[in-house]
Amino acid sequence: MQAWRTSHIAQRLVEHYGTRRWSSSGDPVGELVATILSQNTSDVNSMRAYASLRRSFPTWEAVIAAPESDLADSIRSGGLANIKAPRIQAVLREILAQFPNGDLSELASLPVEEARRALTDLPGVGMKTASCVLLFSLGLPAMPVDTHIHRVSRRTGMIGERTSADAAHGILEGNLAGDVDSAYQFHLDVIHLGREICLARTPKCAICPITEYCAHYQTHGQ
Ligand code: SF4
Repeated sequence: MQAWRTSHIAQRLVEHYGTRRWSSSGDPVGELVATILSQNTSDVNSMRAYASLRRSFPTWEAVIAAPESDLADSIRSGGLANIKAPRIQAVLREILAQFPNGDLSELASLPVEEARRALTDLPGVGMKTASCVLLFSLGLPAMPVDTHIHRVSRRTGMIGERTSADAAHGILEGNLAGDVDSAYQFHLDVIHLGREICLARTPKCAICPITEYCAHYQTHGQ
């Protein structure tokens, strides 16, 4: 039932929002650092912090070697700088210790679960951050589950009402087509729906394109 619902919702959202094609966001280590910087702040602020970090430190080795306070100053615009700076240094240290030349691209040849485990074994890297690296940079069909995707998936019945965000990653991945374009499209479409229509407090069911497949709508109406 969940697989049926997920594939119909995915298809309807493609019709509604139009086709999106995946292309790599670039260096997986950069994607990982950018995702850490994006935690608890807006996209604009985190992109500003990432650009500032790259301007201040030309290499990842230089980021590791920097005094923690200098790194925190460079990422101040992204918020929680005193927490994110040591987190970034710790994960970079571990990547350089575990992967030759700090290159994560070898993970692209692994199954999603295995590649994600290699990343979540790194300090401070959770399911969502790991899945962002796999999907956006490495082209694996992983499904990062943010607050919008978690809420919409529970409301519609694509996952159970009590399913955690962490558990939702594997369920949604298993119920999608299994290629990177489908995962990328679904990820962006559901976030779009969650930001503009299926709002946290008051979902705008009257203008929603997926009412036909939504368990919440079928039970409660608008
Ligand atoms: S029908 Fe309503 S509850 Fe269901 S996904 Fe759309 S906006 Fe959300």
